[in-house]
Amino acid sequence: MPADENRSPRTKAFTRAESAAVHGGRQSRLGITPPVVTPIFQTAAYELPSTAAAAGIFDLLTDGHAYSRLNNPTCDVLEERMAAVDGAVAGLAVASGQAAVTLALLNLCQAGDNVIASDELYGGTWNLLANTFARFGVETRFVSPADPAAFGAATDARTRCYFGETLPNPRLRLFPVEEVAAVAESHGVPLVLDNTMLPYVLRPIEHGAHILVYSATKYIGGHGSSIGGLILDSGTFDWERHAARHPLMNTPDPAHGGVVWTRTGQDLSGPLGRSAFLLKARETLLRDLGPCLSPFNAFLLLQGLETLPLRMRAHGENAARVARFLHEHPLVERVRYPSLATGEEADRVRRLLGGNGGPLVQFEIKGGREAGSRFIEALTLVSHVTNVGDVRSMATHPASTTHAQLPEAQQLAAGVTQGSVRLSVGIEHIDDLITDLTQALRAV
Ligand code: PLP
Repeated sequence: MPADENRSPRTKAFTRAESAAVHGGRQSRLGITPPVVTPIFQTAAYELPSTAAAAGIFDLLTDGHAYSRLNNPTCDVLEERMAAVDGAVAGLAVASGQAAVTLALLNLCQAGDNVIASDELYGGTWNLLANTFARFGVETRFVSPADPAAFGAATDARTRCYFGETLPNPRLRLFPVEEVAAVAESHGVPLVLDNTMLPYVLRPIEHGAHILVYSATKYIGGHGSSIGGLILDSGTFDWERHAARHPLMNTPDPAHGGVVWTRTGQDLSGPLGRSAFLLKARETLLRDLGPCLSPFNAFLLLQGLETLPLRMRAHGENAARVARFLHEHPLVERVRYPSLATGEEADRVRRLLGGNGGPLVQFEIKGGREAGSRFIEALTLVSHVTNVGDVRSMATHPASTTHAQLPEAQQLAAGVTQGSVRLSVGIEHIDDLITDLTQALRAV
């Protein structure tokens, strides 16, 4: 058998997310007989075949690996696989969800620019925008996603992107993706969405989002073992058409030898050549700020990604049952779960999510803060953890943990009251979950 034949993989043909989660990402780029499971390329650097080949890589003329801060074969497969799951043209893996948000936004903004952001955000992201970016001279204008037109009203000549979370928690009000995407389109502004809580369940690109970010730490990894993040490019935003609004994409960049990003990378054959946005993020921000994903974590996240569709279906089924149980419980004041929404919100849930309301449930126990903490302390099967996205069920009291650093007004805007409890419903048997919730409610 000729050596090359030994290496050539059969092209995997698939069209659906379930198949992409298992087969996405070309193992053939590894340069060896394709292994079934993506290996961990635990290396910082790569032997360069010649100075000419090295120059080709550094000048963005040829695909290749030189140093793992910029790319790594294990991380490449994760990037391509998640891009395939979401129908994106390319992905960029980074060290955390926070790094994904930071790089996606800084890729478009410099001092004097502004971001229009939903005011229903994860506390860490709110702080990043309201404080850290502000110190760099990047302003954030927070608007309520309940009024999509507010994004347009807050836009001026220095607005570089809109940002929101598809299912902000703990409020759990689904973001009006289609409506804000239409406003974004009419202003020549890309819509960047954090889809951390609904991977596979919601396909934001099909509803008009341009750039997606994920904390892969959560449902993509699914086992709570690794911190990681991803940025995906839909490939649908026309940066050149809106050149005046996006100078960082369309004018010579001194950070990379004066290249113009929209006109760079055409010679790259792999995914690096498919996204000017991510090529710029990788070759300037990832290079300069350094939050690269470790190949070991990429391996663990890939293992999780393979079962993402199965897990998200199981999370959704259990969460819907838990939400119904709580909704009918006399000690529960109020439950928030997307499938329990009414009116316009219910229509949006049906359009965007179909029958899967997602994995998160928020509720308020009668009796406020004390009742909330007594409930959490009485749980036995459900863990008390300030995380979501694990196969295990987890409960959090946001007012004293994830949202504690926010001023009370921001807490309320995010849907956090003193007595609210957030559940990330896992994939245990529903009977065991209901038994644990029942006994914990009895202890309140
Ligand atoms: N985005 C959302 C919606 C999150 O909930 C989180 C973390 O909880 C992040 C981003 C940050 O992700 P990471 O913890 O992986 O940095």
